[in-house]
Amino acid sequence: MTTFSEKVAVVTGGASGIGAAVVSQLRAAGAEVAVADLTPTRGYPAVDVSDTGSVLQFADLVADRFGRCDVLINCAGIVTVGTIEQLDEADWDRSFAVNVRGVWQMARHLLPLMPEHSAIVNVASGAGLRAIPALPAYVASKAAVVGLSQAMAIDLAERQIRVNCVCPGLVDTPLAAATQEARPDHVREAVADYQNYLIKRSASPDELAGSICFLASDAAAYITGSTLAVDGGRTLH
Ligand code: NAD
Repeated sequence: MTTFSEKVAVVTGGASGIGAAVVSQLRAAGAEVAVADLTPTRGYPAVDVSDTGSVLQFADLVADRFGRCDVLINCAGIVTVGTIEQLDEADWDRSFAVNVRGVWQMARHLLPLMPEHSAIVNVASGAGLRAIPALPAYVASKAAVVGLSQAMAIDLAERQIRVNCVCPGLVDTPLAAATQEARPDHVREAVADYQNYLIKRSASPDELAGSICFLASDAAAYITGSTLAVDGGRTLH
């Protein structure tokens, strides 16, 4: 059985959805978990991953409390809805600041605390592998997370730190519900049409957390630089 006993994990976006399920599974497997989220959670203050000062303060807090970080799960993310014509610059910039720069900054500033054999898992999206309608900034930013994860795997190999990326399909979380709500009717229906999935339903946050925790665990000791689609087979269509 996978254990995280005596390991310290940081989970961004750990207050809700997939991140919250990851926090629960890591805790159940014995890890000490520090949560970095806009919503203050389980004794941790609010952290904005797109704000370097906020990330640095959080890294100091992890250093003081634990002195190390063995696992980093970058799960925080936002969606901005709007077609190429509708989207405004502020939404574009915010998408990249949170979804892409946030992943880089969090990894960069926790690195001094990460010993050899640490693991990083970045949560991108199936939308970063194959575009979906009316989410250009989200699609582009998640494709960037796929590329950034590969770049991180290469650069951190020397330090024996593994980096992998998970691309979820549709997962039952507040983010997915809000995104569906904001979409035009025809797009909402198309996205909720599980005919495009080999497994004809959405995923639970726990199903995603299982795959993320596997990649973060020693059971995945020979896996780095990989992109794992956890999408019910959607990417085959
Ligand atoms: P969620 O909204 O339930 O959780 C996201 C969490 O991230 C929230 O707690 C939020 O407060 C936090 N967050 C947002 N911006 C932040 C910031 N700047 N700094 C710190 N924390 C911030 O969403 P979720 O569905 O669990 O999404 C988790 C990840 O999975 C995201 O990266 C999302 O893009 C990705 N994803 C989700 C789905 C889906 O269908 N739910 C599909 C593909 C990918």
